[in-house]
Amino acid sequence: MTQTKQIIEQTEKYGAANYRPLPIVISKAEGVWVEDPEGNKYMDMLSAYSALNHGHRHPKIIQALKDQADKVTLTSRAFHNDQLGIFYEKLSQLTGKSMILPMNTGAEAVETAIKAIRRWAYGVKKVPANQAEIIVCEGNFHGRTTTITSFSSEEEYKAGFGPFTPGFKIIPYGDLEALKNAISPNTAAFLFEPIQGEAGINIPPTGFIQGAQRICKENNVLFVADEIQTGFGRTGKLFACDWENVKPDMYILGKALGGGVFPISAVAADQDILGVFNPGSHGSTFGGNPLGCAVAITALDVLQDEDLVRRSEQSGHYFMNKLKEIKSSKVKEIRGRGLFIGLELNEPARPYCEKLKELGLLCKETHETTIRFAPPLNISQENLDWALERIVSVFHEV
Ligand code: PLP
Repeated sequence: MTQTKQIIEQTEKYGAANYRPLPIVISKAEGVWVEDPEGNKYMDMLSAYSALNHGHRHPKIIQALKDQADKVTLTSRAFHNDQLGIFYEKLSQLTGKSMILPMNTGAEAVETAIKAIRRWAYGVKKVPANQAEIIVCEGNFHGRTTTITSFSSEEEYKAGFGPFTPGFKIIPYGDLEALKNAISPNTAAFLFEPIQGEAGINIPPTGFIQGAQRICKENNVLFVADEIQTGFGRTGKLFACDWENVKPDMYILGKALGGGVFPISAVAADQDILGVFNPGSHGSTFGGNPLGCAVAITALDVLQDEDLVRRSEQSGHYFMNKLKEIKSSKVKEIRGRGLFIGLELNEPARPYCEKLKELGLLCKETHETTIRFAPPLNISQENLDWALERIVSVFHEV
């Protein structure tokens, strides 16, 4: 029995079956390449759902991790640590927001945003107690906690997990009229993804982000962007809202903030919103830990020093144009921004992902018929061409 087979058997024997991974074990990785225990190499075109924008084990980020591990890793927020302030200042400058609240995972940051929104609604907007509403979009994906699952429109994500948290209204994605109509005096916020990742790289109609912001402003409703998957250069801009030159009231950030090394997430907003928290109202044992902060500081430095945003834009443009040259009746649509690209098929995408895996290219279907291509942002053109060769061949073969 191969090591791969053994490892998968062990994993499946003891693990809850909440994922259906491709049958590959990754035991080593560097840059855009990963390796299985038998020494087979694969190109990673998923990048851990965009958490690996810097590629695997970026040497500067790994060095920061090691250096910090040699000093102090965890203090809890009962005490200060010497990395948190530096992290705050850096992220504040990058987002243009005056306050940061650190957490660990994306879902925790979304939960934090929801708590901030509700406190703001009662304390500032003067919504009657327990009546605050948040408008979200059909096809949304904001994480897996019970509250976040409550406002998912996916039956698969919700089945058997009730009772659900009230206070959310769902409108069709990209529909300004529906947003306008959904707003009531109790509406506290509109929470949205500037491009829906898990729903299959759904790009809203041009003007939606600006229009939605205007409607929110007119109605004293917070405009809250979940940029957990789209942030930090993934779409060819620092944030996907930048495609319409919009600064939301609140950014929810995660994934690539941790440089593909350490879970760290954050909410960024101005003092008039995040100032609603006082000691005792929110927290996390690991949130803001010095190890995560040191990693995030370096991840942000690398993003800037290595021009990853511009590289994503340019490589994405090149890659998408080449994909569009594929002439196949199986391809329904190719859409994307930067290195955040969805190839939608007229049939299930899983067999194509399996075939690509055999050819040494890792990607994953999202929503049955779409293949998401999201390689590390520093991928070379040579590697993109390598990937393209394989993708083209699959559409001629399957
Ligand atoms: N929000 C968005 C837009 C996401 O894509 C994800 C994860 O895919 C999350 C939130 C949840 O993040 P996490 O899995 O770190 O909890």
